Amino acid sequence: MRLLLMGPPGAGKGTQAKVVSQKFGIPAISTGDIFRMNVANKTELGVEAQRYMDAGEYVPDSVTNAMVRDRLGEEDAKAGFLLDGYPRTLAQVEELDTILREYGYELDAVVALTADEDELVARLLKRAQIEGRSDDTEEVVRRRQQLYTEQTAPLLDVYRERGLLVDVDGIGDVEAVTGRILEGLGKAG
Ligand code: ADP
Repeated sequence: MRLLLMGPPGAGKGTQAKVVSQKFGIPAISTGDIFRMNVANKTELGVEAQRYMDAGEYVPDSVTNAMVRDRLGEEDAKAGFLLDGYPRTLAQVEELDTILREYGYELDAVVALTADEDELVARLLKRAQIEGRSDDTEEVVRRRQQLYTEQTAPLLDVYRERGLLVDVDGIGDVEAVTGRILEGLGKAG
């Protein structure tokens, strides 16, 4: 199974990525998590990424694309993968197409979690109190939503036209949303 998980910040991608990837026995690959790990370990990549992340901006495509290419080339991705948080720009879609072609992989489906913006902002501000992520302040949260609407939401149409998109309502408890994803994938497959 080779999946993309898309949706606005706060839609619950990270949570669902973990559960769904476990069900399929494939790695969940989250660009946000990889960036955060690099920031925590103060690697060169982390130092580069942090200033963008803290401002709610996207890390430049050149940096992100190289990272995803490396990660998808690892052994465990041969069994399949669930990409969470990538692609986010049209240039990343094109690069992903190239990477997949090179590795001889094809996507099975693109799951799009949907949720209302006010609900999303409320969730992120609540998470900020619990996890203390440096990009969960109200101003940065709004910026991330805006970037998503401008740059990432249009990608859904690209995948819809390819017949890969599975829309899933992201509002509800974790198990309910997981159930909807699996049901949607069953239908899609
Ligand atoms: P969320 O979607 O909840 O905002 P993520 O953990 O997916 O959070 O991403 C956090 C930050 O990491 C983003 O705001 C961005 O700065 C960076 N990032 C993650 N994925 C990408 C990507 N594909 N392209 C550019 N930047 C990215």
